[in-house]
Amino acid sequence: SGGTYDFDMVVLGAGPGGYTAAFRAADLGMKVALVERWPQLGGVCLNVGCIPSKALLHAAKVIEEAHEMESFGVTFGKPQIDAVKLKGWKEKVVGKLTGGLGMLAKQRKVEVIRGIGKFVSPHEMQIANTDMTPLSTVLSKGENAPGEGARKITFKNCIIAAGSEVIRLPGLPDDPRIIDSTGALELDLPKRMLVIGGGIIGLEMATVYDALGTKVSVVELTDGLIPGCDRDLVRPLEKRVSKRYEKIMVKTKVTKVEALKEGIRVTFEGEQAIEPQIYDKVLVAVGRSPNGKKIGADAAGVVVNERGFIPVDKQMRTNVSHIFAIGDIAGQPMLAHKASHEGKLAAEVAHGEKRFFDARVIPSVAYTDPEIAWVGVTETEAKAKGITYEKGSFPWSANARSLTLGRDDGLTKVLFDPATHRVIGGGIVGPNAGDLISEIALAIEMNTDATDLGLTIHPHPTLSETVMFSAEAYEGTLTDLY
Ligand code: FAD
Repeated sequence: SGGTYDFDMVVLGAGPGGYTAAFRAADLGMKVALVERWPQLGGVCLNVGCIPSKALLHAAKVIEEAHEMESFGVTFGKPQIDAVKLKGWKEKVVGKLTGGLGMLAKQRKVEVIRGIGKFVSPHEMQIANTDMTPLSTVLSKGENAPGEGARKITFKNCIIAAGSEVIRLPGLPDDPRIIDSTGALELDLPKRMLVIGGGIIGLEMATVYDALGTKVSVVELTDGLIPGCDRDLVRPLEKRVSKRYEKIMVKTKVTKVEALKEGIRVTFEGEQAIEPQIYDKVLVAVGRSPNGKKIGADAAGVVVNERGFIPVDKQMRTNVSHIFAIGDIAGQPMLAHKASHEGKLAAEVAHGEKRFFDARVIPSVAYTDPEIAWVGVTETEAKAKGITYEKGSFPWSANARSLTLGRDDGLTKVLFDPATHRVIGGGIVGPNAGDLISEIALAIEMNTDATDLGLTIHPHPTLSETVMFSAEAYEGTLTDLY
């Protein structure tokens, strides 16, 4: 029990970080409250992030594969898209998962408290109850108004898992045709759409809208799509989308956005800028910012930096030792699998276990077509930081399985420490790269060297063989292609 406190543990925010933390804390015997302002559990990831986007990307993939089969002798005809039904299916997938979380919370006797939580002291949180407005309304309003039945709870330990929200570009008109990723998931299909921001989220949504028939353009400020990722991994994506999208502008910024009756007029400036254009919709996908400044952290004495992140140590503790922070609010990379890993860790540390964040690597994936995944040291990073590395790589044009999928544009590469031949990083581009990258992540965690990787028998014919072949190529033992 909580002793002098209402709860042993209060978790603020029920995203992948928060629900994982709450469940782990309950499994360790703590009396737990999970405070969430949205009607459903699951946070951004389940409700308006990872999961709904991947459901729609699956539809995009099926459409594209069906189309590609035409040149191999199987014709399906033009897809008939019922956007309302497709959206309904996506919502069903989300509902299964969020509903499942509700049951798991109940089974563990985690008390779910609905409302907006704010610290009022280092051991107290004020929760303003919200009315149970449908999620879509809540999201478009940002926060919903405090209702009746506000409640104050006390806690021994707390885990802040309040996540992040989309960055709005300053100076944009307030117009329903200017949307963010949440709006894009509503699937109201325009004829012509501009995506501002060529990062992962923008390009995933571009992939969906392109497959569903929208004419897509992308504008990106830096010198290439998916900033931060090695260029050789991005190239197959660039090549494919430059043939499909109406226009891709890099090194270009948007200087003016006007809401006109006939559409949204956008003015560009930069190396690849074109004349002002009128789009039916503009999707702004320029990043996410952490919610650190919105939770009354001052009252608890918790330090929040000027960007809104909450600094933590290797045990996920904030400067206040009984208050932890995890997930998007605790720093980059803002990824669901990082959040859940940290959530588990923080709950165990609060329970008194001597645990530290010691994951060597966190994989990144763009679920575009083709998918791009990378983990550990990248070549860009190695060059910037002077890390010595050697590389083994394997083009998918020489992989049998890739050819049977009708695709030959993939690439797998593995980076090795020249002194020990141990795996220090890797990258994959091609269908299912996101699933395949786990092997390289495991190799890094397990101190695997090139010989281990090359001598591990991989099933044939699979895309996973390209990882083994990369190691063999590095060792000079590659014999059989395909
Ligand atoms: P969140 O998921 O942001 O959850 C925070 C929760 O806290 C929310 O439910 C919020 O309502 C609640 N909350 C906040 N403040 C309060 C308060 N004061 N009181 C009560 N409740 C509060 N990541 C991946 O790893 N893979 C992907 O494929 C992927 N795809 C994405 C696609 C899109 C379109 C977007 C937007 C994001 C995607 N992400 C993806 C990122 C991923 O969603 C986040 O990294 C992840 O959700 C972070 O988890 P979290 O637990 O830190 O916080």
